[in-house]
Amino acid sequence: MGRFQDILLEGLAQDGGLAMPASLPQISREELLQFSVRAYSGLATEIISRFADDIDPAVIQRLCLQAYTEQKFGSAQIAPLTPLGQEQGAPLAILELSNGPTLAFKDMAMQMLGQLFEYVLTRRGETLNILGATSGDTGSAAEYAMRDKHAVSVFMLSPQGRMSAFQRAQMYSLQEPNIHNLAVEGVFDDCQDMVKAVSADLEFKAKWRIGTVNSINWARIMSQVVYYFKGYLGAVKAYGLRIGDTVSFSVPSGNFGNVFSGFIAKSMGLPIRRLIVATNENDVLDEFFRTGVYRVRGSKETYQTSSPSMDISKASNFERFIFAMTGHDGAATAALWRELLQSGQFDLKASQPQAWERVKASQVVSGKSTHENRLQTIRDLASRYQRLIDPHTADGVFVGRQYLESGVPMICLETALPTKFEETILEALGQPAPRPKGLEHLESLPQRVENIGADVENLKRIIAQRALR
Ligand SMILES: *Cc1c(COP(=O)(O)O)cnc(C)c1O
Repeated sequence: MGRFQDILLEGLAQDGGLAMPASLPQISREELLQFSVRAYSGLATEIISRFADDIDPAVIQRLCLQAYTEQKFGSAQIAPLTPLGQEQGAPLAILELSNGPTLAFKDMAMQMLGQLFEYVLTRRGETLNILGATSGDTGSAAEYAMRDKHAVSVFMLSPQGRMSAFQRAQMYSLQEPNIHNLAVEGVFDDCQDMVKAVSADLEFKAKWRIGTVNSINWARIMSQVVYYFKGYLGAVKAYGLRIGDTVSFSVPSGNFGNVFSGFIAKSMGLPIRRLIVATNENDVLDEFFRTGVYRVRGSKETYQTSSPSMDISKASNFERFIFAMTGHDGAATAALWRELLQSGQFDLKASQPQAWERVKASQVVSGKSTHENRLQTIRDLASRYQRLIDPHTADGVFVGRQYLESGVPMICLETALPTKFEETILEALGQPAPRPKGLEHLESLPQRVENIGADVENLKRIIAQRALR
């Protein structure tokens, strides 16, 4: 891995693969105990300064304090753990990650990225044009984190007609001149392919100072590691555990970024029992963890579901996980991805049996939900615990419940607030979710968006016209 600051700005490693640290910092039990008295920003400082080793820890601390404020996240806890109840002897809890400016967990990493970008770019006297693709929540989180930054502009691709009215309004109502919303004719994967195509043109990328904030951005993965520690320590406190006792996490998954951060936390020594990859009807990841076959799907086979931020059939961070499972064998990983490109799938179990054994040993497991399962779960939590959850979180709760073990807390990550997915809440409960203050009339604000085709050359022209110099 190159220097942290370069990885931050470039997104990809020099060879076009995804950047990964050569080794992970290890957190001892003693350190975990010390972490338990830290506020969120203090915890973030501890974790992030172990990765960002070319930035002064005092600076990291200042950036964390600016990123994680009560004002932005609604409480001093930033990511509070809410116990629900005991099910089959297992404490069931929700880790609230969606109380930031755009009401989805993407804010947790993106607010930190905004601070890191501003700091590094200003010091270097440089600018950056962020090119990203979003299935809904990444785009708004990135735009809200960058809208007031002078050294950064954002070009955000979103799939036309695939996001909720709230998600569209949240992004497209931004009027800042450094924010460019481009709605692509296609699905999320088409958007992501366009980003990859532009990023693969190294000359263009260098000339226009293109950066990325997709879930493949290492700094995002790193920032997300923090809340696994927070969730663990929250469970220790809520349930009177001893440091070293294990908990499981259930994670609504699409691009495999969130749950991969959990895998990193576990690899750093956080006592995690299971990491549960919860998917919706777009079950490419569930299929892999059940069978060892990773078979990506095309646009036609990617269903539009009631948990749209997970409508992904090619999970970009998955490559990092497989790299880890091969024992950090770059050549073997590259060979698998060549096979994937040629035939649309690879069979890890058959071609790399040892790596498949590591997958089994990793305790990363999976499951999936249907629309009906999610509606049921939303109703069930509303009536049983008076707790309203969104369809993505419902997916995580539904699948998490299949892996309950007596005495092991099951922490379900809340990845969005229900108000973002009004139609589904209405369908499940017959009434809408409450709107946070100040967002009541979001959909009636004027919108600023441009429709484009899935055409890489046209995208390059647009960037060249409007990029920050
Ligand atoms: C992005 C997103 C997900 C999927 O997260 P990945 O990191 O892509 O796996 C799940 N739920 C919501 C609400 C999201 O915005």
